[in-house]
Order: sequence, then C-alpha cells, then structure tokens
Amino acid sequence: MSSLEGWRAGDMMHLALPQVWAEVLVDCPGVEAPYTYAVNSQMAIALGDVVLVPFGDRLVGGLVVRVLAECPDDLDPARIRSIHEVVAQSFFQAHYWDLLERTANYYHVPLTQVLRAALPPGLLRRSQRRIRALRGAQPILRSQAAQRIWPLLQKNLETGYSWRYLCQQHPQAPQGLRELLQAGCVESYICLGKSAQAKQQLAITLVQRLPGLTQRQAAIVAQLQQSGGEAWLQTFQQQTGASRGLLDRLTELGCVAIAPKERLRSGIQTTDVEADQPRVLTPAQAAALAQIQKADAGETLLLHGVTGSGKTEVYLQAIAPFLDQQRSVLVLVPEIGLTPQLTERFQQRFGRDRLCLYHSGLSDGERYDAWRQMLLGGARVVIGTRSAVFAPLPNLGLIILDEEHDSSFKQEQTAPCYHARQVAQWRSQLEGCPLLLGSATPALETWATTQGTESQTHYLQLPDRVEARSLPPIEIVDLRQELANGNRSIFSTKLQQALIDLQQRGEQGILFIHRRGHSTFVSCRACGTAIGCPHCDVSLSYHLDQILDQSLLRCHYCNYTQAQPQRCPVCDSPYLKNFGSGSQRVEAEVKRLFPELTVFRYDSDTTRQKGGHQKVLDQFRSQPASLLVGTQMLTKGIDLPQVTVVGVVAADGLLHMPDFRASERSLQTLIQVAGRAGRGDRPGRVIVQTYSPDHPVLQHLADHNYSQFLSEELQERQAHGYPPAQRLLLLSCSGLDEDAVIQAAEAIADHLREQALESVEILGPAPANIARIARRHRWQILLKSPPDRDWNWLKPDQLRSFCRKGVSLLIDVDPISF
Ligand code: ADP
Ligand code: ZN
Ligand code: ZN
Repeated sequence: MSSLEGWRAGDMMHLALPQVWAEVLVDCPGVEAPYTYAVNSQMAIALGDVVLVPFGDRLVGGLVVRVLAECPDDLDPARIRSIHEVVAQSFFQAHYWDLLERTANYYHVPLTQVLRAALPPGLLRRSQRRIRALRGAQPILRSQAAQRIWPLLQKNLETGYSWRYLCQQHPQAPQGLRELLQAGCVESYICLGKSAQAKQQLAITLVQRLPGLTQRQAAIVAQLQQSGGEAWLQTFQQQTGASRGLLDRLTELGCVAIAPKERLRSGIQTTDVEADQPRVLTPAQAAALAQIQKADAGETLLLHGVTGSGKTEVYLQAIAPFLDQQRSVLVLVPEIGLTPQLTERFQQRFGRDRLCLYHSGLSDGERYDAWRQMLLGGARVVIGTRSAVFAPLPNLGLIILDEEHDSSFKQEQTAPCYHARQVAQWRSQLEGCPLLLGSATPALETWATTQGTESQTHYLQLPDRVEARSLPPIEIVDLRQELANGNRSIFSTKLQQALIDLQQRGEQGILFIHRRGHSTFVSCRACGTAIGCPHCDVSLSYHLDQILDQSLLRCHYCNYTQAQPQRCPVCDSPYLKNFGSGSQRVEAEVKRLFPELTVFRYDSDTTRQKGGHQKVLDQFRSQPASLLVGTQMLTKGIDLPQVTVVGVVAADGLLHMPDFRASERSLQTLIQVAGRAGRGDRPGRVIVQTYSPDHPVLQHLADHNYSQFLSEELQERQAHGYPPAQRLLLLSCSGLDEDAVIQAAEAIADHLREQALESVEILGPAPANIARIARRHRWQILLKSPPDRDWNWLKPDQLRSFCRKGVSLLIDVDPISF
C-alpha cells in the first residue's frame, strides 16, 4: 500500500488551491449512485473521463458523470477524497453525453442506469490500467524509480505492463511513472484483464432436476434452468452467490455438470465468404437511394419495401460512400442470431475488417473488445441489436434501423425501458446524420409520422419485388368447414395437397406456428383444470424432450419445468388431454403424414447454441423436398429462394391477443411469414388456416394492402385514444407479497388522482395481463395524455415512496405491451 501513501501526500498539497468536484460512477457491483470526489487544480477533468478513485481501502475505476464548480452543500469539503488519476480522457465523443442524458430524462431513470445499459458490462471493473512506452521516446530519467521502470517498459512495447505490476518493481514507482507520463514518454491506457486471453472457460449445465434436494440446492437448480439451462460458471456464481462446494455437490448428485467450454473471441464467425459486387438497382431502389443520399442532417426516412423488394441492397449502397469518406455507419437489427444472412451479405460487400458485431450474445470480453475497436478504430459498419444504439462510434455518417417495427427494439421489464428507434432518432439529430428506418411492415406510429402536410419522416417506397417476381397469392382456409367435412387433422385438405405436390416437385416449404413446444396446454377432461405454472398465472406447455426422452410441462415465462403428471392434480382423474398445437406437434404430424419430406424445426428450442440459427437454416437449404417448421423467428428477414409454399397452421392464436396492437402485430407477422414464399425463380403460394376467415387482418393480408390497413387502424386508435393519438406511460408495481403490491399501486394511483392533472387520464390500478410471473405479482397503472404534453411532471422518487420494501416500481414510457 506504500504506493497509495505517496499519492495521498500529493493530494494534501493541493487542498488549499481552488478546486472543482466531480461525481464519479464507480464500477462496483451494486453501487448505483455516483460519489463525489475532489479534483486537484492541476488535474484537468471532463465529463466522460475514466478515472481511478479511492473506494473503501481500494482504488477502483470510475467514470466522471458530472463536474461541479462548487462542493455540494451536504458534504464536508475536508472529508471528500480526491480523484487519483485520469486514466483515459474524453472517453466519449461530444454528443454522447447529451444522448445519455436525454435518454435518462425521457425514460425517467437516473443517468447511471442508462450508462449501465449503454456500456458493456464490467467495462471499468474488468479493466486493468496499463502503461506502455511510446516508441522512439528518449526521456531523461531523473528518479531511481524511472531508471528502473524505463528499461522494463522497453521489453514490451506492444502492451506494456499493468500499473500494479510496475508498482511492485520499485517503492517509488508511482512518482517515477508520473515523471514519465509528464515527460510524454509513456502512455496510460485501460485494457481488459484476464478474460481477454481466456478462450476456454468453465460452464455449468443442467443435466436433470432431481427430487429430494435441499431448499437452497433446488433454488440454485431453478435459477440455472431460468437462464436456459446453461451459464458460465463464474457469472452464474456471481449472480446466485452459490459456492463452488454447493455446485460440486450438485455435480455429484448428477443434477448439473461443470466443464470447460470454448469461448469465441470474435463476434464474426470465420466462414469464408465470396466477395460480392453492387447490383444494378431497380428504378425504385435507385430513386430511394437518391433520396437517402440527399437527406438532411438529422432527417428520418422510412423505406417501406415489400418483402423481397431489395431493401438490403439499398442499405449496402447507401453505406458504401460513407466508408469511403472515413465515416462510420450503425446498423441496428432486431436479433443478430436471427440474421446471419444479413451479416454475411455485409461481410461479402465490405470485408470482415470493416465490420463489427455488437449484441448481447457476445461474451463480456467480446463486447469489451468491440467497444474498444469502435472507440479507437477507423470507420466501420457496426451491426448490432438494441443496445448498440449507444455504440461509441466516432464520426457517424448514417444510422439504419432494419425491421424497424420489431418489438425487440424496445427494452421491457428492466429500466431503462427505452426504444432504440427513439434513441436513434435523437442520436441522428445530435450528430447530424440521417436515420433510415426500413421495413415491409412499418409500425403504425412510424408510418403516421410520414402522413399529412407536417410529416416529419420522409416516405420512400419499394412497391414491387425485384426481377418482376410477384408477391405470393394468399389462400385462406376455413377450418370450421374442414371439421364439418370430417377432417380432424391439423392440416386442411388444401395444405395437405400442397405438401404432397411439394414433395413430388422436390421443392421446399415453411410451416408457421406461433407457439413452440408440443401442445400449448394440458387440461383434465373430467374437471376441466388446465395445469398451470406454480410461479406464474399461465398454463404450462407440453414439450417432448428428445435428449431425456421424456414428456415435460414447461412454463414459457419462467422456464419452470416438471414431468407430465399421470393424473389430474385436482380430481385425480387419469384423463388428461393436450390442447393447442406447438412447433413440436406440427413437426411430429408432418413426419407421420409425409414420411418422405425432411423436416427441420426452427424455434428457440432447436437453435439455442451459438450459431444455431445458421446451422438449421444451412441444413434446410441444402435439402430438397424439405420443410421448415418454425415460430416467430421465421419472420425475421430470412431469404430462402427455394421456398415455394408457406403454410400458417393456425392464425387464430395470433389474431386474438388481448392488446390494442394485436391487429397490427398479427398482420405484421403474417405478412413477414408470407413474404418467405416465392423469393426465387419459382412462384410461391401461401395457405393460411383459421377459424375466423373474415377477420379484417386476414382480409388485408390477402389484398396485400398494408397501407390501407394502417390508415384504417390509425382511425381506430384515434377513436379509442391509443398511440399515436395519445401517449401512454405504464407504471408497474411488482413484488412477492400481493397485498403490498396492490397497496402500493393504489396509493400511487390515489396520489396521481389527487394531483388532478389536466388532460391526463389515469386507468387502474389493475392486475397485469399475466398477473404473476416467476412468483412476482404485478399491478399496473396506465396513464394517457395528449401527444403534445410531456411526462416531465412525473416524480419517480415520490411515487417510489409509496412502495413498501420488496415492491418495485417500473416506469415504462411509451410501453408497447402490457
Ligand atoms: P428485402 O430485404 O427487401 O426482403 P432483399 O434485400 O433480401 O429483400 O432482396 C431479395 C433478393 O433480391 C436478394 O436475394 C437480393 O440479393 C436480390 N436483389 C436485391 N436487389 C437486387 C437487384 N437490384 N437486382 C437483382 N437482385 C437483387
Ligand atoms: Zn381434473
Ligand atoms: Zn412460470
């Protein structure tokens, strides 16, 4: 600790001089609020600097989040500790802080929470401070310490040594280093420590759930199950606090397995791809590109192009000139695992070195590396998911949001509940670059901004598919009629015939079912009880586990799993029946009825491992006369030119969701699924099975007129006071104790009503749609207000004061589901 003493003495000398203070977000798990530190007068400090500060008896990394000219009143200046060192200056670009602050204000969360969403996890905590000599520097070495350290630094010019290591080399090392730093002969930088080299890492995997565990053991197993049955050991231990002894015991019992696993460093898989040249654009593509190229700074454009109209080609050609000008481009996509094709096309066009992937599927180390690359590297294209909207790209030329209607751009359930489209719009305005939104099925709210005389968004259209391919005709099959005709199969006669034809012609098809698993619920034929999740107010889905060869019931909200019971838990009747079809059941039915078709299942159960999506799609693509059975994932922009038939097994589950956006969402999903047919040389057909053939959504699907649907839907929303006609804000209280949750929700609602705010409508409190998830009860209050009124009057801290211990309040501005 002698090194610290030296610094302290230094700080004391400056205490009498004029000072500033800085609020620093220290990177310690669990520390939310920033701490105030003194800055000595010789130290230049700015927002966004990475600093080292004393915290307890340690020095930790931190980020300067505010610089104050005066010491806060409630603090005694004499007792404030000083910042030790600036490790990296102006870590962020000029507008970055404005963006973070705007996000914090709009979504009613502290700046620190936005920072945590924006920065890669453990950015500062994992970082190590290192020193390296600058090439060619020839300092005059005054102190003994400098004389000792300088030759050492010459041995490793590339990465230097950790600050800590150097301090062990000489008692006065800190002064020696300061001397070298001041002389400009060495540089100080932060770098990711150990995990940067660790390619193998221990992972813990759930083998089976066993009876007879202790409460603690069972809780740990349940948590592992919740994280998908697999986790990195270290992360898992940090999250659960489980000791290694306890986990070893579970290993002995055969409940879990612990083994080293490969951890990929690069986000981009090393596949060899052929380089690819820009295509000659269709007139519509060329017109859209021209508009994008002359867009004003901060302008938003919507590229509405039907499925297969060549939006991606427009993106690629819009991006190229920016790279030539040494500017970067940010491309946001809903889920990267689902868009291997998009990534591949970018790689073919721009090469691997100019591409950077940033998404939550990367390990922390990979994310950190991507961050550094972006901060320090030259111009590149960053493809990323929601949180990449905060990617630290200098010199941004263009932001693209592909599939802009996709709900995964909205963060839900955890603060900040931000929408990447909204944040991207602010970012484009702050940085003066255009924002390009693309979709075959734009969100109603986005489309609405292109309408009218005061439209804020420039509307670009690609009304036709490339190469004069036509959109597939939609055939709607009335399942009630099928039943009347005595067909009890899940496939109508028409769909069966289509699959037979497909098999004979050696073509490919897709079957869409919106639920995974085998059956959507299991209920008792004697008493009617549906078997529910003990932790959530939903019924359990029936799954067949092929590895364990066992029938399981699983909760799709908390992942609770149990064996299929033999008898009804309520009346003990043995007559249990599975209802509703999921992807597993459809797969099994196809195999039974069409043994010559090869079937692949494409859902979150079959694509769980890294690169899993790509693998299934590759297998499918290389197999003639095959069928891909999948869920929602199928809607995410995959391009399979051999597919001629798309079947929607049951549209009804989609149509009847209890949500004002149900129509919009189901039409978007169906158009996207239908859009997978006929993308190659052969024409496609789409068969939609339903019990409600007259539903307006299906009518609009059939007439291929999405814009007409949107304008009708807009009138509906206006009539009922929903967005974009009104703005919404959702307050959700949740907790284990139902009474406490209800009390908090009621107190908050009463308080808001007492304020009698003009033109603000308060609905509730009411239980959430699913009133309990993972044992937490959920009650909600919905606020509505006119679009020109903001939520600045809301005082989150005041509202939180109504929540007893154990009840948490989540504020969701512009919620998209509730
Ligand atoms: P979207 O993203 O709008 O659904 P894609 O960009 O995937 O459409 O394009 C569909 C197919 O058409 C792709 O295989 C793409 O390579 C091809 N394509 C796009 N633009 C052109 C063009 N101008 N000429 C020829 N083929 C094109
Ligand atoms: Zn029963
Ligand atoms: Zn559950």
